[in-house]
Amino acid sequence: MKLRISNATDMHGKSRDVLIENGVIVSSLSAAPDLEIDGAGLLVTPALIDPHAHLRSPGQEEKESLETGLQAAVAGGYGSVVCMPNTAPVIDTPEVVRALLERASQLGLARLLPAAAVTQGQQGKLLSDAAALKAAGAVMLTDDGRTNEDAGLLRRALIYAAALGLVVSVHAEDAGLRGDGVMNEGLVSETLGLPGNPVVAEAARIARDLEIVAATSGRLHVQHLSSARGLELVRGAKAQGVRVTCEVGPHHLTLTDSALESFDAIYKVAPPLRLQSDCDALLQGILDGTIDCIGTDHAPHTAAEKERDLLEAPFGIANIELCFPLLYTRFVHTGKLELTRLVELMTAGPAQLLDLPHPSLEVGAVADVTLFDLSSERRVDPSAFKSKARFGSPWAGEALRGWAVATIVGGRVVYDARA
Ligand SMILES: [Zn+2]
Repeated sequence: MKLRISNATDMHGKSRDVLIENGVIVSSLSAAPDLEIDGAGLLVTPALIDPHAHLRSPGQEEKESLETGLQAAVAGGYGSVVCMPNTAPVIDTPEVVRALLERASQLGLARLLPAAAVTQGQQGKLLSDAAALKAAGAVMLTDDGRTNEDAGLLRRALIYAAALGLVVSVHAEDAGLRGDGVMNEGLVSETLGLPGNPVVAEAARIARDLEIVAATSGRLHVQHLSSARGLELVRGAKAQGVRVTCEVGPHHLTLTDSALESFDAIYKVAPPLRLQSDCDALLQGILDGTIDCIGTDHAPHTAAEKERDLLEAPFGIANIELCFPLLYTRFVHTGKLELTRLVELMTAGPAQLLDLPHPSLEVGAVADVTLFDLSSERRVDPSAFKSKARFGSPWAGEALRGWAVATIVGGRVVYDARA
């Protein structure tokens, strides 16, 4: 397959052609291209990498299937997706990892990068076989969806993972402090009379985990930061040379706990939506380099589940299809954030976390490439999502620019909005 993308604009504003042959970017094609894409007026970047998505496979296909999840990913401009292991069964054996990878390769959409559980069944009791999981293709260890209550077990996991070169990713919330909180603890939760989940649940757990990783040779990744205080702790640890990275999701940058005044469980996420001051601090963390990457934490549920009341509904927002346009429109288009930094957070940042080759459009790079339209607006229409979570979105109706036009993985066009 020979492909020519002509006259696109890269993230530095330079006009360029991208030539692809045999799955890699080349300086010239050996013959006429099989396919030409007119990139005029479009941004071209390396395909996005999501270090954190819940694709619900195996076993929770009523929420999302591997097919719909990966279709949603490529429609969002993603060429690679890390899928979380809190599935049924849990992704905690090499057999499950291999089966997922095989199914994903049959689908031929985005590259699937499975995360495997730190503990067997994510039960927090016995470590999973990290070496066998890595050999099968797991790219990180995490008990995400659950918290790591046993500090001794986390310490051992970090030590074993370090020997294998794997990062351990944590959902940093202290279960005792979180209690049965369904939203941020604060004025809004008090007014609504709903059980709150305080910032200290996140901050105390991050502080604990930073101490633990500093005492090992391991690498810790803090998932979905939600609070200014949590960020401050990571920033301080980084300044002291602690091997820690962190991510933030689009909802924690753009929504606050006042959204819960609607009593709509679509806004129920873990960790919870906080205050505008937290959103502002997280953006600052992006600007000053403390935050390493954007992870969507795409977490689809069924309409019936999310229609339950705030006490009963499960945590999670489906967002992988609109993450780039949302962040582009809110922050880059308004001049608060450089385009190059946003692209870095969604390509190079996750690649570094996962020890993948640096995503690039240079000759010789693997041809994982996305084209985005920064100039025309389109409203968020959840009914058109590829994800099964089509029933609504916190951003429904919002006019966004920066939608993916085409996503190319390994030199194959896996998503084409114009088709
Ligand atoms: Zn989580």
